[in-house]
This record gives sequence, structure tokens and C-alpha cells, in this order.
Amino acid sequence: MNPNTKPTPLLSCEGLSMHFGGLAALDHLDLDVNPGEILGLLGPNGSGKTTFFNVITGIYRPSGGRVRFEGRDIQGLGPQAINRRGIARTFQRSRLCLELSIFDNLMIGDHNRLNHGLIFNLFQRRRFTRELEGHIERARRMLATFSTTLADNMFVDVGSFPMIDRRRIEICRALIGGPRLLLLDEPSAGMTHEETRQLMIDIIGVARQSQDVTIIIEHEMNVIRRITDRCVVLNFGRKIFEGAYDEMVRHPDVQEAYLGGKGEAA
Ligand code: ADP
Ligand code: MG
Repeated sequence: MNPNTKPTPLLSCEGLSMHFGGLAALDHLDLDVNPGEILGLLGPNGSGKTTFFNVITGIYRPSGGRVRFEGRDIQGLGPQAINRRGIARTFQRSRLCLELSIFDNLMIGDHNRLNHGLIFNLFQRRRFTRELEGHIERARRMLATFSTTLADNMFVDVGSFPMIDRRRIEICRALIGGPRLLLLDEPSAGMTHEETRQLMIDIIGVARQSQDVTIIIEHEMNVIRRITDRCVVLNFGRKIFEGAYDEMVRHPDVQEAYLGGKGEAA
């Protein structure tokens, strides 16, 4: 391939808008995401980051614009259909079932593969058992990329693990169906500085191990610095910057957006 040709984007948004009444949470957003990159999505509170994730994953139907994933339109599809196409996410607030085991929680994330009915489960016992063993092995391997303690305790209730492990489990749950695009919405919210540092190392590890997964991570600047290939900054639903981290922190529009907001920059 000619080194000057740009790769075909994995995700491509054109003029993407999301209105809530009179408020434009996303305002004609154009954004391409390249295969294999880790893209940092930044912006002051209320700038539209979570809304962007909600639109991409089909939770909201956009008010306007186009979203293409692997060259096919996905705007207007529901969350399950989009997940089946290969986009997975974690949420800003944890959505794990604390009273269920790690394994059970992971299987909820793998429902696309667990679509046999009761009849199959009852009458094809041997195949069912074999498939279940496959799921257990896959879950164990996935957990082990983060922590052997999690892998060794996957039948223990999620509620008995600390916050950092719960985040790891959530990320495993998003990854277990083998998505090509992973959206992480403030993955270290509510965690200490040290836990955040550790989780970022884990995320880099995941990206290295599964090189075909593309990650968009929504976070504060200081967290994003070490792990992203490229940054995009939103303000009032519009893209005000796209480029390298070092350039971003110096950019006057970015500085003003943060200082004009709650002064959270860097
Ligand atoms: P961020 O994740 O960047 O902090 P959000 O995407 O959560 O920002 O919010 C962007 C804007 O859209 C905010 O002004 C927020 O109040 C508004 N918003 C988000 N979701 C809804 C909704 N379901 N109904 C009405 N307004 C919403
Ligand atoms: Mg948010």
C-alpha cells in the first residue's frame, strides 16, 4: 500500500447531531476513527462525550447526520444490532450485577454467542456442556490478561472485589464478544490516582494484545496523555481540536474551553 494513502476509517461520522429540545449536545460533528488507534475523547463537562457514545452505540437515534462503521451505515440501528456489528462499550456508572459472579457478568456481555433456546440446552446436553466449557475458558483467558486473581476467582460475586477490579471486569465484559471498536466512558471514575494509573497500564496491555481492537477513551487530560495516539476535544457538541496530545494542551481554543468551563485542564 502507498504509505501516503490514509487508511479507510473504521468509524466515520459526518455532520452528526443530537438535539435534546433546544440543546445541541452534538452539533454537526465530523469524526473519523482509524483502525487500531487509541483515540482520546476530551472536553469539559457537558460537552457531549457521553452523548457521542450513546449515539454511536444506538442508545440515542441521532437528530441528523451519518455514522458508518466498516463502511456501512449504522445510524438508527438499535444497541443490540450495533453490538453485533462489533462495537462494545463500558458505562460511566458501573452496570455490573454485584450479586452475580464474574463469569455470569461476562456471559451477559457475550449474549450474541449464547443465543440457543431452552430446547437446545435441554436436549443437546453434551454440546451445551462443551460450549459452556469453551465460554469458561475464554472468560478465564480474557480475565487473565488483566489479573490472575480475577481469572482464578471467576465464580465469586463481583460485589466482593474492589473498584479497580470491577472496572477490569466491565472492560472484559465489553471485550469478550470480540468487538472491533471499544468505547470506554470515563473508565477510572471514582478510582484513586494509583488505581487509575494501574488501569491505564491494563488498557495499554489490552490494546497491545488484541491489536485489531480500536479504542476510544473518554477521560481527563492527565489520564489520557500516556495512552492515546490521537486526541479529539469537544466543546458544546462541536469538535474544537483534533491532533496530538502535546499540541492539544497548547491550543488556545482548548485552553479557553477548559478555563471557560470548570477549569479542569491538565
Ligand atoms: P459529557 O459526557 O461531555 O459530560 P454529555 O454528553 O453527558 O456530556 O451531555 C452533553 C449535554 O447534553 C449536556 O448539556 C447534558 O445536560 C445534555 N444531555 C445529555 N443527555 C441528555 C438527555 N437524555 N436529555 C436531555 N439533555 C441531555
Ligand atoms: Mg460523560
